[in-house]
Amino acid sequence: MMIVQNKNNENSKKKVKIETCYLCGIEFDINADDASHYHNGEYPMCSYCSEAYGFY
Ligand SMILES: [Zn+2]
Repeated sequence: MMIVQNKNNENSKKKVKIETCYLCGIEFDINADDASHYHNGEYPMCSYCSEAYGFY
């Protein structure tokens, strides 16, 4: 028996991967469909910081 925690998007193909933003320290889903990404391919950056600082 599986326990489905992500009831809002059961068909999501993306895995949730929680990272901690290296700038502001909040935890976020790096795989979310937003501006969050790995800065320089290495440092987790949340959506807010990505938009605020314009780092892509
Ligand atoms: Zn941040």
